[in-house]
Amino acid sequence: MRTTLLMVALTTAAGVASAQTYEENLEKGAATTERNEMNVPFVQPGNWKTPYTAPSNWPIFENRGPVDRSPADKPSKVIVLGSGDPMPNPFRFGPAMAVIVNGYPYFVDCGEGWWRALGKAVLSQDAIDLPSIFALTNLKYMFLTHLHEDHTVGLPSFISNPFKFGVNGNKQVYGPQGIDEMMWHINAAYRIDRNEMFQGSIGQHGDGGTALGIPIRPSTGLEGAKIFEDDNVIVVAYPTSHGALEHSYAYRFTTKPDNRVLVFGGDGHYSEGLVEASRGADILFVEGITRANVEYATWGGATVEEKVQTISPYHMFPADLKRVQDESGVQGIVLVHVQNFNNPDDFDRLGVLKEMQDEGVTNILSAQDGDLY
Ligand SMILES: [Zn+2]
Ligand SMILES: [Zn+2]
Repeated sequence: MRTTLLMVALTTAAGVASAQTYEENLEKGAATTERNEMNVPFVQPGNWKTPYTAPSNWPIFENRGPVDRSPADKPSKVIVLGSGDPMPNPFRFGPAMAVIVNGYPYFVDCGEGWWRALGKAVLSQDAIDLPSIFALTNLKYMFLTHLHEDHTVGLPSFISNPFKFGVNGNKQVYGPQGIDEMMWHINAAYRIDRNEMFQGSIGQHGDGGTALGIPIRPSTGLEGAKIFEDDNVIVVAYPTSHGALEHSYAYRFTTKPDNRVLVFGGDGHYSEGLVEASRGADILFVEGITRANVEYATWGGATVEEKVQTISPYHMFPADLKRVQDESGVQGIVLVHVQNFNNPDDFDRLGVLKEMQDEGVTNILSAQDGDLY
């Protein structure tokens, strides 16, 4: 497969110029898995300024399906389940990923469409045995970078759908302060459905269908705090900076069998915590927003200046990401939470990636739902 070049690029030592260029990424974008038959064209939306069509530049079809960009010699993988952001882009589910170690998944963020994202991944990515990995009994551990709705709105699916198909609860959702309260309310909100499932003819156990919210309490310093460990992974949390949110975190996963270091930055701009989380890591999964195209953002103000002022505390502009890479020595970067704001007349699916590269960020790729890293 043509994934080899990019796999090598991602595993190249920090500071070494990436082997990949924008053009190579573009060419790479044409690669598909054998099971990719999902590029069904949509009708071109009009130039309306609504969240559904603005920027009216969502592609008529994506030019590639999911690919396997993971190192062949490392059994631990990351699958991107949802590469989107709050915009209702029909090609990208809400933010969601999973670290897969010894055939077991550890989920990071639970965006819109989480349950269907699993289904799409299983149908479109056959490089690993996803039906076994996503066995309903394995859907247990969730780590939330922050409590914005686009990263949490899939939680009812995470909790209720496996229960609906016969698997009890015992789920653990780790997240910032407030996750215990959020889970209490979600559990309460679905009480009627849950009760019907165990009192009605479906006959599920009464002790399923809920999940425990576990607030993490990382140290206030930059050394991070270990919040989870089992036979497969160690997870350390670092504080990040995301707008006016009081608590948001990056998670640094170290996989035990093959010692991969995989960092999930969540949303936000430059922070020392993100740098520490990413120090010497194999891959940082992180968001990015365009600089040149921010004027096409559908929020943040009426003028470009207002938008930059509003959006920059929340999101990662190219100079921010360059600084994170330079200071942390992270070896590879994968863009998720893709914003895709662009001039409607000049749609470029990889515009964010190109701007990051123009800023000097190296070894960087743009993810799509179903990709493996
Ligand atoms: Zn977000
Ligand atoms: Zn956010």
